[in-house]
Amino acid sequence: MTDRKDELAANLAKVERRIADACAAAGRERDEVTLIVVTKTYPASDVRILSELGVRHVAENRDQDAAPKAAACADLPLTWHFVGQLQTNKVRSVAGYADFVQSVDRSKLVTALSKEAVRAGRELGCLIQVALDAGVSARGERGGVAPGGIEELAGLVAAAPGLRLDGLMTVAPLTGEYAGRERAAFGRLMDLSTDLRRSHPAATMVSAGMSADLEDAVAAGATHVRVGSAVLGVRPRLR
Ligand SMILES: *Cc1c(COP(=O)(O)O)cnc(C)c1O
Repeated sequence: MTDRKDELAANLAKVERRIADACAAAGRERDEVTLIVVTKTYPASDVRILSELGVRHVAENRDQDAAPKAAACADLPLTWHFVGQLQTNKVRSVAGYADFVQSVDRSKLVTALSKEAVRAGRELGCLIQVALDAGVSARGERGGVAPGGIEELAGLVAAAPGLRLDGLMTVAPLTGEYAGRERAAFGRLMDLSTDLRRSHPAATMVSAGMSADLEDAVAAGATHVRVGSAVLGVRPRLR
């Protein structure tokens, strides 16, 4: 193996062990949690290696980087998740390669995603991004809709052609009542998921947890963890 492949294999094994241990501690089956590797800032060659190592889900947060990478990796059996704040002028591009958009946080975005999914002849899985540090009807600093806005947005997604409502996503907040309380934050997301599933039973995905807090997310009941730096290394630039 190349040095990079060795390095990624070792990192993946560590993350896999962490997820397995967290599942065991929570009394959950390992297959209840899907690992999504966040490849942002890293090259398509790394994505290719990850695919060889058995990774099936990757995520990106900027269309400018993601679009060429997805094109370069189009031959690989990968599912692409878009997890970044999304401007409507990037939606046409994202709808061309993303299988899931986890950062749906406003009605304008739902309209644009629906239009472009239909145009591309694709169905996009959508997660509502929840901002646990946002005011009652505001959006969060890093995107996301306040909990009070979930139901309305979910209804719009569920009714939109080309879109499928799959669940909720959050990033542990740095400010507000949940700052530094990842377990509580992810617990709150699970409660919101329970509420959502009363009206949308198929919206079962709960995407939470990153390199630093994946154990808290698995303990809370997350179905998907999004892990970047623990697999690929510390990113050279923060974005
Ligand atoms: C970068 C990113 C991650 C991964 O973060 P790490 O700390 O590198 O694991 C997860 N989710 C989102 C939305 C991200 O932007």
